[in-house]
Amino acid sequence: MFLKEKISRDIQGALKRCGENPGIRRQFEYDPEEEKIQDGFTEDPVGDASASIPGLPCLIRKYPDRLLVYLHDDCPVSCRFCFRRHINIIPARQCAFTDIRAYLDANPEIREVIFSGGDPFYLPLADWSSLAEEYYRLEKLQTIRFHTRTLTTFTRAYTEDLYSLFRKWNAYGKETVMVFHINHPCEIREPMAEILHRLRESGILLKHQMVLLRGVNDDVKILQKLFRKTEEMGISPYYIHHLDAVKGAHHFHVPTDEGISLIQDFFRSYPFLLAKPRYVQDSPSGKHNLLW
Ligand code: SF4
Repeated sequence: MFLKEKISRDIQGALKRCGENPGIRRQFEYDPEEEKIQDGFTEDPVGDASASIPGLPCLIRKYPDRLLVYLHDDCPVSCRFCFRRHINIIPARQCAFTDIRAYLDANPEIREVIFSGGDPFYLPLADWSSLAEEYYRLEKLQTIRFHTRTLTTFTRAYTEDLYSLFRKWNAYGKETVMVFHINHPCEIREPMAEILHRLRESGILLKHQMVLLRGVNDDVKILQKLFRKTEEMGISPYYIHHLDAVKGAHHFHVPTDEGISLIQDFFRSYPFLLAKPRYVQDSPSGKHNLLW
């Protein structure tokens, strides 16, 4: 399936700032390599389809204590390596919240909800805030987590209204976590520090995840720069993801042995990490540690 090129204004700015740096460009620009068929690269490498809840296709469950909700079906960019590039995402607005609540009631071991997509914050605030608040109201949930790439792709999402909403939701006594997807130091620019400061002030825990990508960040020096910048801005290292073997992304693949040795080199060369990110491989049965 052809994935239309989509590059947000923020990323166009990053492309200008970083000139010809292939590491950032390669993530968002179409490459004819995507058309080549490669053994082992499939349309749903992490098994989202089989992990979706019958009758509630906006939900994914791979772990007993966690539930993933597709809050939105669109993103400000089309990452060429996206593991959901062939998936038909059914957003939460197409499921009745009463049915979701009934599912949560019937599964008391679920303690955490992860809002993902697509990108949750690419949806206008007014279109998701009431729904998200329904989850904050559920006493049984301890943590609400947001997975987003908008810190580098769509900074317009970070408004006074967003900060004040999170401040208001603090009253529900839950832990709110934001996990930012950032792969290359060129994606980061100074004004993001203020956004992160406001989010922290609003009581949110900030974490960083990245995907190890051939020709983007498979280089110790780039990893050092990326983690130095994210940590300086107060985002804790969380996950380094091995590439999900999705059809059309084989040219981003770093073999597992090479990935492990690269990440080991990075850890050795950069002993300043506040927390060690977990290098993980996702699969239909969940994440497996490659290095921790
Ligand atoms: S932001 Fe995430 S979900 Fe959206 S295209 Fe990129 S990798 Fe896929």
